Amino acid sequence: MKYDTFVELFPTMRILKKEPLAKYTNTETGGMADVLAFPKTVAEVKLLVNMANENGIPLTVLGNSSNLVVKDGGIRGLVIILTDMDQITVSGTKIMAQAGASLIETTERAYQAGLTHFEFAAGIPGSVGGAVFMNAGAYSGEICQVLTEVSVITRAGYVKTMVNEEMNFGYRHSQIQDDHDIILEATFILKEGNKHNIRETMDNFNFLRASKQPLEYPSCGSVFKRPEGYFAGKLIHDAGLQGYQVGGARVSTKHAGFIVNVDGATATDYMDVIKHVQDTVWEKFNVKLETEVRIIGED
Ligand SMILES: Cc1cc2nc3c(=O)[nH]c(=O)nc-3n(C[C@H](O)[C@H](O)[C@H](O)COP(=O)(O)OP(=O)(O)OC[C@H]3O[C@@H](n4cnc5c(N)ncnc54)[C@H](O)[C@@H]3O)c2cc1C
Repeated sequence: MKYDTFVELFPTMRILKKEPLAKYTNTETGGMADVLAFPKTVAEVKLLVNMANENGIPLTVLGNSSNLVVKDGGIRGLVIILTDMDQITVSGTKIMAQAGASLIETTERAYQAGLTHFEFAAGIPGSVGGAVFMNAGAYSGEICQVLTEVSVITRAGYVKTMVNEEMNFGYRHSQIQDDHDIILEATFILKEGNKHNIRETMDNFNFLRASKQPLEYPSCGSVFKRPEGYFAGKLIHDAGLQGYQVGGARVSTKHAGFIVNVDGATATDYMDVIKHVQDTVWEKFNVKLETEVRIIGED
């Protein structure tokens, strides 16, 4: 299906053709999307899913692109970014957030309402949808501890609700990674707390982040999952890999688990650094490092 047909079908939606995804990813790398759409409503997402199905067009969903390496060949077909679906509603101890809402903004809203238990996520730069997909976590908290249910649209175009128990949450894992549904909205239940303490905890976590993480550079956060019984960062540090660089992508000297874009890196630079780190840690310690970051797109 041609780009012009997309524009005709969705005259009020922002739709871009051959759009470089490096403009959207946190690493500032990645090739072009054939077509990039920014739906604003569930109805629009549904129409896009149905239209992609009917025309055999591959469809990729992105949130805030903070946990992604999009390869330099870009993404064929239709890419949708959900960050225009960003409403957050607080009612009592319940927060309902659309998939594209910023997780950081959602934790701010929890604070404003005097709700506790979401402080752990105060500095995670993802969308709510991406955070549920990844079961994002920090400082002993995880999305699965506060989420009650999600509304998703299946790849076949049906909207359904999944409760927490159906999400098969694990360490940086949710059922959505296996089913490929698209998250539309998430509901969280929190507890009433003390606003002063909530602020203090959030500020403390953000202080810790800023002191330990290379937030001054583009990155995708921790690149590798924590291998059973080890810490990825320590293995990388002990292997002498900090500062290792290919092109503009470098293993951070501040936090060994991060690969930072220090100088116009390409996604290929990122992939080369990732492979070298995995090979070296395997050779030295016999430990397999699996990526936490999602690698998508074409070479
Ligand atoms: C500086 C920095 C610090 C970070 N710190 C943390 C941390 O402390 N803890 C942590 O867990 N992560 C951390 N991250 C990683 C990242 O922010 C999280 O994984 C976040 O949850 C990803 O959300 P996103 O919206 O950016 O997802 P994206 O990067 O856009 O997408 C990630 C995956 O989720 C899928 N996805 C996104 N939205 C949807 C949706 N609505 N429906 C279905 N699938 C979807 C995408 O297809 C993709 O496969 C950090 C990243 C950075 C750059």
